[in-house]
Amino acid sequence: MDDQRAVAVWRDGAAVRVPADQPVVTAFDAGLARGDGVFESVLVDGGATPRLGDHLVRLQRSTRLLDLPPVPDDAWRELVAAATEGWPADVEGVCRLFLTRGDGAAPTALALLAPVGEDVLRQRRDGVRVVALTYGLAADVRAGAPWLLGGAKTLSYAVNMAAQRHAHAVGADDVVFTSAEGQLLEGPTSTVVWASGGTLHTPPADLGILAGTTQARLFSAAETDGWPTAVTPGTVADLHAADAVWLLSGIRGAARVTSLDGVARDDAGLTARVQDLLARP
Ligand code: PLP
Repeated sequence: MDDQRAVAVWRDGAAVRVPADQPVVTAFDAGLARGDGVFESVLVDGGATPRLGDHLVRLQRSTRLLDLPPVPDDAWRELVAAATEGWPADVEGVCRLFLTRGDGAAPTALALLAPVGEDVLRQRRDGVRVVALTYGLAADVRAGAPWLLGGAKTLSYAVNMAAQRHAHAVGADDVVFTSAEGQLLEGPTSTVVWASGGTLHTPPADLGILAGTTQARLFSAAETDGWPTAVTPGTVADLHAADAVWLLSGIRGAARVTSLDGVARDDAGLTARVQDLLARP
């Protein structure tokens, strides 16, 4: 199994590849104790990371939002190169970049690489059953409360993971979060996109949700292809009424929503076009 995983850590100004089962953080790391850090998940496709640049832009934004010591893009690129070196071109991988506040002496920066999970590949192919769950916050609260870290991809994903476990417990695969008033937000690890009235829609990032790199790529390719796009506040009712709904993320791509709160839904044959647009360079 170890040959299918890789780890690289930043030590003394250089990226160092270490055995996957070797410890790389101390027990006093703030990322471990408090989830005080940021991360990115980057697809490794054909042994390369064609979307790394988009993820580094967001990683640097998250770094600033948490006031973490900045790590330059070149250092991240060295870490990714060290982790992906020798990775087989025919195995899709997920490369996770982590930056934590560290142990008080220095921040921790590392890159992990593992194969994309079977469940992710299945959901990309067959779609996802989704339930809508409240996030409990008013839609406008995070825009005016920077300490809530809206828009940052922090390591504090325990709530996101708990929401997915809740979905599994009620027979679904994934979640769409809503605000206290019922505004659509995002999935625990994805951006919500829906097609209606001949337009692709996604909720506004100023709700404090993460700006998705995959959604941005899809919307840009769709516009070039003559498919209009819009940033639109929405509700669960809008998803029920839509022609198609997808959960978008860099690793899973566009997973079509096959049921929402137990109600089966179609994709009007649009998923192939969305996936084709995302496959464009
Ligand atoms: N929203 C959240 C909360 C996420 O964790 C992710 C995935 O990392 C996304 C949206 C989608 O982002 P991306 O398309 O850049 O992978």
